[in-house]
Amino acid sequence: MKHKGRFGTFGGFYVPEVLIPALEEIEAAFDRYSTDPRFISELDDLYRNYAGRPTPLYHARRFSQQVGFQVYIKREDLLHGGAHKVNNTLGQGLLAQYMGKTKLIAETGAGQHGLATAMIGALFGMETKIFMGVTDVRRQNVNVHKMRLCGAEVVSVSGGTGTLKDAINDALRYWTAHVQDTFYLFGTAGGPHPYPTIVKHFQKPIGVEARAQCLSQFGRLPDVVTACVGGGSNAIGIFSGFVNDPQVRIVGVEGGGKGLATGQHCATLTVGTVGVLHGAQTYILQDENGQIHETECISAGLDYPGVGPEHAWLKDTGRVEYLCVEDEAVLDAFEWFTRTEGILPALESSHALAWVMRQKGKLSPDTVVLVNLSGRGDKDIGIVEEHRPLKEMPA
Ligand SMILES: *Cc1c(COP(=O)(O)O)cnc(C)c1O
Repeated sequence: MKHKGRFGTFGGFYVPEVLIPALEEIEAAFDRYSTDPRFISELDDLYRNYAGRPTPLYHARRFSQQVGFQVYIKREDLLHGGAHKVNNTLGQGLLAQYMGKTKLIAETGAGQHGLATAMIGALFGMETKIFMGVTDVRRQNVNVHKMRLCGAEVVSVSGGTGTLKDAINDALRYWTAHVQDTFYLFGTAGGPHPYPTIVKHFQKPIGVEARAQCLSQFGRLPDVVTACVGGGSNAIGIFSGFVNDPQVRIVGVEGGGKGLATGQHCATLTVGTVGVLHGAQTYILQDENGQIHETECISAGLDYPGVGPEHAWLKDTGRVEYLCVEDEAVLDAFEWFTRTEGILPALESSHALAWVMRQKGKLSPDTVVLVNLSGRGDKDIGIVEEHRPLKEMPA
């Protein structure tokens, strides 16, 4: 391939031989259309009028009072579908159309990426198959139903533990037999080259808009930018706007689950080791024999034992700090943010808010912290209620 999609030693494409031409075809189409004025203006129209871009930048005043410094929120939760995922599915979906593909496949864990793909499958009139682990199909019934309403077929994957990594394996396997007419719409800034580059490109508007909004709303760059990291797509989107501003501190927050000592967490960058997963060299959660660990944290969207290779590189170069917060702190942040701002944050995004709350007393009152609110929390109220029944909350 023209460029191998390496971020330092990370990334690359470790895939079966038969997929290499398909990945090369996507790379060539991306290189061609991402600079084509017609593609750009069509995508821009969809971002604005279908998804709801640009999203606002909001000064969370009451939450800022709680923590003692200035917190600004990038409102990706207001997008169609309730999260940043539609940025990526619109971009890749349009690319698939320009390539003349008629069918889409995608993997999903919690169902959020599956739903965002099913939505644009309906929008573009493309036959859509969503691969989902059987355990997740059971856990995420509402999303399965919504995907079917959009006309997508949900393929229940029973191999392994019936979760996201198994769904990705099966989607890749299916793709090898159907590369002619089928586009694999990958859900995060990971996987084999060129996906990390493509997904970052389609999530970049978050960072571009946020940077310009900071300059126009308070006349300077933020001191800190933070986002949650699952596979890393919302984070790379907002980080990309600030990574070349050395004065801006950048913090990625992973799922600490029940604590690192328990082994039940999703802290890939915090405690993972280098290996190959789903076509890329990156940090992964594995044992000494290379067996992948099951991840476990309160938000299904962060439940992935790998991470996008560019984050692995940003960690090793020291440009971005990665750390994790535990489930209890995430629930605290969910409650406090909702109580002070009347905005329900997704449990994924609540990880970034939990880290912000932990900075109380450590930052001066005029410090500006920018948080990417990757999604809304309506999908999570059942889980929150399970852990923190309303009747036990202070009045
Ligand atoms: C899927 C999801 C995430 C995690 O995915 P990334 O690729 O790391 O962004 C985070 N927040 C929300 C709301 C999600 O739906």
